[in-house]
Order: sequence, then structure tokens, then C-alpha cells
Amino acid sequence: MAKKGDQDNKQPQSGGGGNVVSLPERCPVEKCGKKPTRSAFCEEHFHWFKEGLVNRKGEKPKDFDKKYQHYLKKHRKAS
Ligand SMILES: [Zn+2]
Repeated sequence: MAKKGDQDNKQPQSGGGGNVVSLPERCPVEKCGKKPTRSAFCEEHFHWFKEGLVNRKGEKPKDFDKKYQHYLKKHRKAS
């Protein structure tokens, strides 16, 4: 006599949903670590991001120095 307890007991678990997007607690730029005030960056590095000095992850591009010099010139008004 076969017992009748071999039923499929599927537990309906909706997959996904583990995608929690939380704001980082610190600015992702290397050696910064300030509290983000704009987007994921601190005030200063938000401008960097806008100027292309760092990417979303706070990483610097290969031609960072070049861009940084350009950035400094742009933001340093001759006085
Ligand atoms: Zn920063």
C-alpha cells in the first residue's frame, strides 16, 4: 500500500526582490570618505563626477591628471 503523502509541496517564493538599492554612507571616491550630500558623492566629488573626473563608482579614469588640471583651471578664477 502506497502512502498518499508524496504530494508536491511547492512553496511559492517569489524570486528576486533582493535588489536593495541603498545610498552609500560614504563618498566612494578614494581617500575621501565624506558623507554624501549629492547623489552618492560629497559636494566636491559630485562636481568631479559631473566633470568626468570620476565614474559612478568613484574610480578615476586613466587621464585623470589631465582632466583634473582642466578642472582646476576652470574652477580657479584668476584673481
Ligand atoms: Zn568625496
